Amino acid sequence: MRVLGIEGTAWAASAAVFDTETDEVFIESDPYEPESGGIHPREAAEHMGEAVPRVVETALEHARSGGGVDAVAFSRGPGLGPCLRIVGTAARALSGALDVPLVGVNHMVAHLEIGRHQSGFDAPVCLNASGANAHLLGYHNGRYRVLGETMDTGVGNAIDKFTRHVGWSHPGGPKVEARARDGEYIDLPYVVKGMDFSFSGIMSAAKDAYDDGEPVENVCCGLQETVFAMLTEVTERALSLTGTDELVLGGGVGQNARLRAMLREMCEARGASFYAPEPRFLRDNAGMIAVLGAKMCDAGDTLSIPDSAVDPNFRPDEVPVSWRGTQES
Ligand code: ATP
Repeated sequence: MRVLGIEGTAWAASAAVFDTETDEVFIESDPYEPESGGIHPREAAEHMGEAVPRVVETALEHARSGGGVDAVAFSRGPGLGPCLRIVGTAARALSGALDVPLVGVNHMVAHLEIGRHQSGFDAPVCLNASGANAHLLGYHNGRYRVLGETMDTGVGNAIDKFTRHVGWSHPGGPKVEARARDGEYIDLPYVVKGMDFSFSGIMSAAKDAYDDGEPVENVCCGLQETVFAMLTEVTERALSLTGTDELVLGGGVGQNARLRAMLREMCEARGASFYAPEPRFLRDNAGMIAVLGAKMCDAGDTLSIPDSAVDPNFRPDEVPVSWRGTQES
């Protein structure tokens, strides 16, 4: 089976073709790059309107040599409403025109499932460290349960707010990673409450430290060390509480080498296995949508057009995990 995936929840207009026979994933992406500030929903939607047809055409051209596609999967949410609506409209039109089933994929579950698919892990805990989200997921009784999550902003968005304050262009995460290498650690507020965490206090403190003359390299170093230590602490607790010895990483912040090193070290210390997908599968991409779309389609988990509305607040624990055997709990 070959599945066309379409992604466009925020900044990445992306289309992919996943071939279940060969396990090959072809991805074509076109990122929205704001001229100033962060992601503007209207501008991002305009980008989707222009770029989605282009990336879909390239993906379909790739699929044509193999005989076309057997299903169309799309990101149904969570994400920016104006962007999601464009992706949903494109997916419905393509499913009708090609006369193939339509599959609605939860973007956050896709961030988890790509790691599970590639690692071969059975029921891992997942740390989703992305732009708009930050949470721990664990599988129990037919759903991915949210074991812990941010009480305010997503982790990438928090870092991007600091970098906007110092005048750096979006996205800020890679710039913080580069500058932190030359910095010395400074103390910043560490806020973990039970299984949840908060980034707003640390971001205000980082901005204040910078405004008070602390070298930006030191602020970047303190920021990374503190935020990633918070995520690693809660991840370790999630492994411990669930008795799981498999961890996968998802989301664009997962491209950060320091975060991966901390998680790997923690897993090694407790004898757990750790898997981080390669960067093109960590940041937003349609490959993960096509891969999960294929599993859902195989399980008969498809959508009728009237039931295919997008959902900007689609939580991962709302998704019945249709594609795993009922014997798994
Ligand atoms: P979501 O998946 O929750 O919808 P998103 O659409 O914002 O999030 P992602 O691609 O998962 O997109 O993540 C983008 C975020 O990743 C941005 O905030 C960016 O700054 C951050 N990021 C990218 N590279 C790095 C890095 N090397 N270190 C830290 N953060 C990074």
